[in-house]
Amino acid sequence: MSHSKLPDTGTTIFTVMSQLATEYNAINLGQGFPDFNMSEELISLVNKAMLNGYNQYVHTNGLGVLREKLAVKAEKLYKTNINPETQITVTPGGTYAIYTALTAILQKDDEVIVFEPAYDSYIPNIIINGAKPVLVQLQFPGYSIPWDEVKNKITRKTKAIIINSPHNPTGMVLSETDIEELKSITQNTNILIVSDEVYEHLIFDDIPHRSILRYPELLERSFVCFSFGKTYNCTGWKVGYCISSALLMKEFRKVHQFNCFSCNSFVQYALAEFLDNEEAYLFLGNFIQRKRDYLQSLMKQTGFNAIPSHGSYFQCYSYKDISEENDMDFAIRLTKEVGVTTVPLSSFYQSKKDDKVLRFCFAKKEETLRLASERLQNL
Ligand code: PMP
Repeated sequence: MSHSKLPDTGTTIFTVMSQLATEYNAINLGQGFPDFNMSEELISLVNKAMLNGYNQYVHTNGLGVLREKLAVKAEKLYKTNINPETQITVTPGGTYAIYTALTAILQKDDEVIVFEPAYDSYIPNIIINGAKPVLVQLQFPGYSIPWDEVKNKITRKTKAIIINSPHNPTGMVLSETDIEELKSITQNTNILIVSDEVYEHLIFDDIPHRSILRYPELLERSFVCFSFGKTYNCTGWKVGYCISSALLMKEFRKVHQFNCFSCNSFVQYALAEFLDNEEAYLFLGNFIQRKRDYLQSLMKQTGFNAIPSHGSYFQCYSYKDISEENDMDFAIRLTKEVGVTTVPLSSFYQSKKDDKVLRFCFAKKEETLRLASERLQNL
């Protein structure tokens, strides 16, 4: 199209790699979704809600009882006092929440600080709103944030900073020092924060999740985005929510009400009931950590080198001891010739920076991980 609003945006790498995996019948450790079963109890609750007739529109901000339960959860986990009436909106997924937040605040020519490697929706979300992504690369190989560079890139036009912890694709998690830096950079400014916390429960090694919800001075300038898909191993359900200050939420809802209006009803009834079961989300970190560790132990038999991951569904592995190919070619060859699909890290950089690293999704059955690593040993 001659006047495309996103002239440089193609098909997301996740779709590209998943299609390739299907075509070549490869084991798909590319896209981030579990291949194991979700809770049957939660499925029954959804069935029950539908059969009980909860099939009509619910409130545009989300089912009241669900928002109340989410406020209680936030209070328990992060010692924060959230008003479910004014500060929580249920959304069709975390990605939608991020898009809605950015659309609610961005004006033409605003600047948004984005850390790379970056989840692939952020930059198109900024550009479609007429704003400009200002890129800061995390420091390879630890993927820590270079705060001095962030400070240097802040201008009068900086409207927001997007943060993501635990981080996709690297598994990096924010430390208390990062939070202090964020506080000091934003205090006495109008800079807003969009915090992508969809992996809040997928955090390992006894590290606490440093949710923005814990820090009132940050929360007042933040949209914090969550995903039930990640919390309950049901990524296909596409339900999430956003928590922010009441002032920011008012703007968020102006966009939301004329975009999706309200999310599917029966899942919200089911989630509201299931949230009483704290174990269902509290056990998740350990459960997924065991999968990270299992894949890591198997990968020792291969030429890949693990880069530490402390959260998310993902771990990055360097293949520089195996091949000098660029990461895209290498990932395609792995799918076609070895039968294992991953995601090349260059696809998370605008510059296509190639550190010879692939992202592996370990949220899979042990059998899947074992089979994949056996194939990789033959390289
Ligand atoms: N943010 C990040 C960093 C993600 O990895 C994902 C899932 N791929 C999302 C947001 C989206 O979550 P949802 O499926 O709920 O839209």
